[in-house]
Amino acid sequence: MTKFIFVTGGVVSSIGKGIVAASLGRLLKSRDYSVSILKLDPYINIDPGTMSPFQHGEVFVTQDGAETDLDLGHYERFTDTLMSRLNSVTTGSIYQAVINRERRGDYNGGTVQVIPHITNEIKDRITLVAKDTNPDVLITEIGGTVGDIESLPFMEAIRQLRKQVGRQNVLYMHVTLLPYIASAGEMKTKPTQHSVKELRSIGIQPDILVCRSDRPIPAGLKQKLSEFCDVPEKCVITSQDALSIYEVPLILEREGLAEQALALLQMEQRIPDLTQWRTMVERLYSPKRTLEIAIVGKYVRLSDAYLSVVEALRHAAIATHADLRLRWINSEILETEPAENYLEGVDGVLVPGGFGTRGVDGKIAAIKYARDRHIPFLGLCLGMQCAVIEWARNIGGFSDANSAEFDPDTTNPVINLLPEQQDVVDLGGTMRLGLYPCQILPNTLAAKLYQDDVIYERHRHRYEFNNAYRKLLLESGYVISGTSPDGRLVEIVEFPNHPFFIACQFHPEFQSRPSNPHPLFEGFMQAAIALNYPNTNLQTPVEVS
Ligand code: GLN
Repeated sequence: MTKFIFVTGGVVSSIGKGIVAASLGRLLKSRDYSVSILKLDPYINIDPGTMSPFQHGEVFVTQDGAETDLDLGHYERFTDTLMSRLNSVTTGSIYQAVINRERRGDYNGGTVQVIPHITNEIKDRITLVAKDTNPDVLITEIGGTVGDIESLPFMEAIRQLRKQVGRQNVLYMHVTLLPYIASAGEMKTKPTQHSVKELRSIGIQPDILVCRSDRPIPAGLKQKLSEFCDVPEKCVITSQDALSIYEVPLILEREGLAEQALALLQMEQRIPDLTQWRTMVERLYSPKRTLEIAIVGKYVRLSDAYLSVVEALRHAAIATHADLRLRWINSEILETEPAENYLEGVDGVLVPGGFGTRGVDGKIAAIKYARDRHIPFLGLCLGMQCAVIEWARNIGGFSDANSAEFDPDTTNPVINLLPEQQDVVDLGGTMRLGLYPCQILPNTLAAKLYQDDVIYERHRHRYEFNNAYRKLLLESGYVISGTSPDGRLVEIVEFPNHPFFIACQFHPEFQSRPSNPHPLFEGFMQAAIALNYPNTNLQTPVEVS
């Protein structure tokens, strides 16, 4: 029987509910309980796949090809458990299902309403995840803040669910903020009190409060919160800001979060094994060398747009004892100014994925710079496509070479639409999405990094390498080190006369874990270290879980 934990947020948005949910997942998993985490998002989009990264940050892709909220990335990284398309639900997808049913006549002429039809659909989606993987605990995070009009149906659904599955099987956890008012020299509990009041007015009494604060909370404050919010003092958990999100599970463990949750859910108390996690955090906090990596992209204004890429770099940095510095470069600037003005001194250049023509020529300039100057280069998805355009223009001699995405009339479309994409008109969920196998060519950099001949990686793209240029690419010294098993699709390209130059059509960042970095990212970091700290003897990375 699955137990249910619902995580709501109060006071302000971006309070880190996702990290709290993911951390609790880690703490339960460390006690040998299986967990799954579901995100309920109150917006009308069917999924975030069509949303601008500027608005919503990165689109995280699950193994089964769902385009989901970036919190699912945290869930996977913290719990080392795979999420599926069932783990991401939006208001849009709920309404779509109900309206489709209405159109089919399934409601037999009845009036279709928010209560019960929408709330029932929400409850069904929650219980569906529980049925699908049968975890010991299903944590459900409700996006937005208590009091938002649009999250009301979700709140009502989780309120009803307690009755449906039994009181002892449901726990409500409310994450709030304790702001520090400098002029008064005081930390304030009033916003939390109001938020709990709001939650109660919709019939939910929180069992646990998790209070974010930027400093230690003074004695007596927990007691005050306990009295005003009707939550036992031991269930008032403080989550003080940490230097790294990966420390949060350790902070919450010290505060007794998992212990209280298990007690409330009448589950067996077990001793957690956080050894590996602790080792990872200790390494993170005691780097031996500094590395600066440039991320050249178009969405650099909002670092969340590249969340998994940044986390994958951090995981590789942890494994190689490096203090990671990021140099964010808006690729557009490199279209008018020399690359060295911005890239001078970096230890590695990473060009991540993206869509649309803006800034593409700047990414190409960055890749040329990294190739010419022998700076380690890692290209991801659009990053690989740009590496191919760079080859075509600067080595292949096709000055007008381009991707058909950016110039449909180019005479040299070195990147072309995937055949199965020719007739696609709908933008939502129609790319090449999810996990695909890739055959690795022996004796290549990819083979050395992966130590495997068939690997599986997640994809999200419409365009691919145009095979008409394969022969020319190979003749000029490039290596195609990864293809689809039938050999048709080019998945990895590398340039051997270089310390580290590799680019892939997939998104390796989604599979990286804090204690188990992705081989491409780790290799990239090792190459950067080898060039900058030639006498370094890299210790073996932290063990794989
Ligand atoms: N825009 C490119 C394509 O659709 C690359 C996509 C990406 O980088 N995720 O193929």
